[in-house]
Amino acid sequence: MTTETRKETLGFQAEVKQLLQLMIHSLYSNKEIFLRELVSNAADAADKLRFEALKDPKLLEEDPSLRIRIGFDADARTITIDDNGIGMSRDEAVAHLGTIAKSGTGEFLRALSGDQKKDANLIGQFGVGFYSAFIVADRVDVFSRRAGLPASEGVHWSSAGEGDFEVATVDKAERGTRIVLHLKEGEEGFADGWKLRGIIKKYSDHVGLPIEMPKEHHGEDKPAAAEWEAVNKASALWTRPRAEIKDEEYTEFYKHIAHDFTDPVAWSHNKVEGKLEYTSLLYVPGRAPFDLYHRDGAKGLKLYVQRVFIMDQAEQFLPLYLRFLRGVVDSSDLSLNVSREILQSGPVVDSMRSALTKRALDMLEKLAKDKPEDYKAFWTNFGQVLKEGPAEDYGNREKIAGLLRFASTHDASGEPSVALADYVARMKEGQDRIYYLTGDAYVQVKDSPHLEIFRKKGIEVLLLTDRIDEWMMGYLSEFDGKSFADVARGDLDLGALDSEDEKKAHEETAKAKEALVERLKTVLGLDVADVRVSHRLTDSPAILAMGQGDLGVQMRQLLEASGQQVPESKPVFEFNPDHPLIARLDAEGDANRFNSLTRVLFDQAALAAGESLKDPAGYVKRLNALLLELSA
Ligand code: ADP
Ligand code: MG
Repeated sequence: MTTETRKETLGFQAEVKQLLQLMIHSLYSNKEIFLRELVSNAADAADKLRFEALKDPKLLEEDPSLRIRIGFDADARTITIDDNGIGMSRDEAVAHLGTIAKSGTGEFLRALSGDQKKDANLIGQFGVGFYSAFIVADRVDVFSRRAGLPASEGVHWSSAGEGDFEVATVDKAERGTRIVLHLKEGEEGFADGWKLRGIIKKYSDHVGLPIEMPKEHHGEDKPAAAEWEAVNKASALWTRPRAEIKDEEYTEFYKHIAHDFTDPVAWSHNKVEGKLEYTSLLYVPGRAPFDLYHRDGAKGLKLYVQRVFIMDQAEQFLPLYLRFLRGVVDSSDLSLNVSREILQSGPVVDSMRSALTKRALDMLEKLAKDKPEDYKAFWTNFGQVLKEGPAEDYGNREKIAGLLRFASTHDASGEPSVALADYVARMKEGQDRIYYLTGDAYVQVKDSPHLEIFRKKGIEVLLLTDRIDEWMMGYLSEFDGKSFADVARGDLDLGALDSEDEKKAHEETAKAKEALVERLKTVLGLDVADVRVSHRLTDSPAILAMGQGDLGVQMRQLLEASGQQVPESKPVFEFNPDHPLIARLDAEGDANRFNSLTRVLFDQAALAAGESLKDPAGYVKRLNALLLELSA
């Protein structure tokens, strides 16, 4: 042991302490993943060194062949993971092994319930990384030296995974990181060659550099020095032919690059040759990461150029509405010195981006077709993000529209289960539009008076209740040649869905009620844009219709929430000529009573549309007066 200098004890960041507690108690059922995490870090360290050595080849010292070595000592109850990657300086060890840098970590941890089962589930969204060493070890020693620093500037980091850790400066001749796990009592079974080989094969076969273990020697002729042999395939997974890669390998590779615990639900692996040459491997995660809606949450692909790792989170290769996808792209056309700034634009990146977008959308289409149950879960996780698509990517809007799922009057479950293609296939004879209604919540829209005529005629209406829906529909004008129509807007025209007789009857009623329309206009005056006879109501006495260009409830709330001026718009008051209350109103000779009954009907229609009343007290007063008259 070399001498240690500048030894100090430091406390873990509060979040780390919490995570350590949680992990040790909730990941007991799958302990072996610690090795995957440590190998994954060692592989990342090799990638980083290769990248930095592009500019500064001296970093490779006399030791250019990168590898990971895993040793063990059953008697001492230790496992050692040794890499000759980038290594860590003392400051880096303190920062990277004492804190969690991921944005949103605090929020994430505060959201944990304390219920172990639930939290064990949640932690998969987070990825535990290095700290998973403490699942099996009661002390972890890390010896590291950053490439380029002198041998005297090694660091020894050590902790029992409780409140604090120690760091000291030590000599370390070899560049890179060696991690020594002192196994807990009961976990000594991991210090076994056969077992470790099995775990490496299972989780880390895809790793692109050799993972070596001491050669097994049976009998007496064991050599004095260990001979190392590679246990994994040691070629980057995406460079291998598709037919040779097993599903489990794809799955484990995903976990490595995405830092995720959960299996992906789909992937698409493609080699492109021709004008541009690149290989891409895209994945759809099995669940939403904890930072999906965080502004600087992880997004983008891992970029390699001719198999050399260049950067994580290269955002330029996919549009934002596909930011939940993970994967790798390895290009032969970009320069090894490519930077984020250079990636901002340029013909190579642009055409890769449009090809990758198409691949991604195809992959989602295939998932929807082949595994509807998985697609449902996908939709729950990422549907909201995909809904940004029609606005962001006009060229692909028809394709994106095909991936959307909606609740519908056709499905009593209220789940977003209906695709536009399903809707179109069920359209009535003579129907040329896709009808929809937007609102705050499913329970609120499902019984909206706007749906009455559609229910009567058996016409399906899509029910859109996500905050983003009304905004999104502004960018979707048609699907499969059928235009969209918001049933709460304008004077409903059912086109060929109304017979000639029905149309004629509407016209006649409208004529017959002209006088009533005029009386109503005098009462409602400036509160409405117009008053007219409705032919969309069967049960309700009246309804408020929006103008074609007016902002709906959702958009108005969005604008208000962002502090913007909401333009004023007035609704059209439509009444149901066949309703007994309207007949009563028509027959009412007393101006006062006509007045208050009209205002009550107007306010009720506003309530049914999910709006709040301007004068709720006035409404209650008028309604009570009418109720009293009833009981008199
Ligand atoms: P992640 O891998 O998601 O960044 P980890 O908890 O696994 O999170 O690792 C934390 C950080 O510690 C890494 O990002 C890296 O900076 C550093 N680190 C861990 N292991 C090594 C290693 N073998 N070599 C160099 N740096 C490492
Ligand atoms: Mg890691």
